[in-house]
Amino acid sequence: MSTLEQNIEKLHGLLARFQEDGIKNRIAGENREGAAGRFLNTSPVDKSVICEVAQGNSDDIDAAANAAADAFADWRDMPANERRKILIRVAEAIEARAEEIALCECWDTGQALKFMSKAALRGAENFRYFADQVVQARDGQHLKSPTLMNITTRVPIGPVGVITPWNTPFMLSTWKIAPALAAGCTVVHKPAEASPLTARLLVEIAEEAGLPKGVLNTVNGFGEDAGKALCEHPKIRAIAFVGESRTGSLITKQGADTLKRNHLELGGKNPVIVFDDADLDRALDAVIFMIYSINGERCTSSSRLLVQDTIKEAFEAKLVERVNKIKVGHPLDPATEIGPLVTEEHFNKVTSYFDIAKEDGATIAAGGMTVGDEGYFVRPTLFTNANNQMRIAREEIFGPVLTAIPFSTEEEALQIANDTPYGLTGYVWTNDLTRALRFTDRLEAGMIWVNSENVRHLPTPFGGVKASGIGRDGGDWSFEFYMEQKHIGFATGQHKITQLGK
Ligand code: NAD
Repeated sequence: MSTLEQNIEKLHGLLARFQEDGIKNRIAGENREGAAGRFLNTSPVDKSVICEVAQGNSDDIDAAANAAADAFADWRDMPANERRKILIRVAEAIEARAEEIALCECWDTGQALKFMSKAALRGAENFRYFADQVVQARDGQHLKSPTLMNITTRVPIGPVGVITPWNTPFMLSTWKIAPALAAGCTVVHKPAEASPLTARLLVEIAEEAGLPKGVLNTVNGFGEDAGKALCEHPKIRAIAFVGESRTGSLITKQGADTLKRNHLELGGKNPVIVFDDADLDRALDAVIFMIYSINGERCTSSSRLLVQDTIKEAFEAKLVERVNKIKVGHPLDPATEIGPLVTEEHFNKVTSYFDIAKEDGATIAAGGMTVGDEGYFVRPTLFTNANNQMRIAREEIFGPVLTAIPFSTEEEALQIANDTPYGLTGYVWTNDLTRALRFTDRLEAGMIWVNSENVRHLPTPFGGVKASGIGRDGGDWSFEFYMEQKHIGFATGQHKITQLGK
């Protein structure tokens, strides 16, 4: 039996329970049907129905928000060391079930196992990292003044909502939920409707590892319904959101009446800039990895290649050769590098850019075609002879599709790189140190790597500028979002109090 066949067999075993019972919402430690009925979850690999999913609406969100509010005080007041231990146990349980998580994620989203096996472990790492911050998360400062001993403390903000997208959903959910729990908040999670499987596994794993009932609640459903209700709920104090930029602005509007604190991690159209003095072999590897791994369904992907005109021809020729060799296939085949796109809707969106590119006058140098009709497969695609005004250079396609744009000078590269509504990441390839310093200083992006692909280090700040987001995750930045700073001033003597009405 091939590894692919073995993986398919394992997957069938894992899915049986979902096929039988469907995926229920999980509220206060109990399985609940959705007030709006059920919806169907399908696999992008062969368009088959995976299972039915509880469809939550404002009633379910209300129940979950109440459960999170009820569970808050006990979770907040649990000694930090005990909370830490529970979160470490969650990390261990994720590691123990990493294969199950990865197989389900691949089948649900179309992501290749090659990348998803690591994503499950990244989820465990998120829990471990934030568990280790639990003890000091509430520490404050003392700021003595002549008449007062001022101290600060940090307290968890309260029950929070976490709304996540379908791309690498398990890893991204843990990236939000782990720091929220570490801060002492309770959570209502609304996963993306296209990828409910691993959100269900996460809440099960967390409860089995000892997370008290109601501390993490999962409500499935659609954004305009369940998601909106979560943003509007008065008991929910903050919304951590990951998704499209236009949804981000809806999140802000929906939370206005209840004065929600929002953290928005949104879209990108990130540039990778390759100067002719760079290590071009390494640059080529990184350019390919950062757009064609994870199906290009990655917010930090470098979807615009800005290549210096002196090396354009040779660099693009090598790129075409490599792109044409990328293996598209079944996501559970360990050799597969690109699986199918997540949904029919997304497949239609990505493939529509093949015509748009031609209409705009760009060249399809590689790919630009679908593969079979069993699932939502596309060939990795490269557009050349493009300019930055074309739709393929301005809009987030969110698939394995790269737009190459030439430049001649550093100033022109900077102008093109910054000429976008987005500002999530940037990647600069040059061996000129002074230029790298100068360029990164003026590049409009929240995260920049020089001579490197995106290598995430959990203590560093993660987030975007412009339409790519508001707020930062990572290290203590996560706690700044999930916690409130409090100041308390103690008089150290009998200082003069201004007397009125005497
Ligand atoms: P999306 O905005 O369509 O959906 C994200 C989530 O929001 C889903 O759970 C959805 O149900 C919910 N939602 C939709 N409308 C809502 C509403 N009115 N109120 C509340 N919730 C609502 O995004 P998607 O298509 O699932 O994900 C892809 C997008 O996510 C891309 O734009 C990508 O760049 C972005 N993303 C950003 C980051 C980052 O860190 N910046 C990371 C991953 C993905």
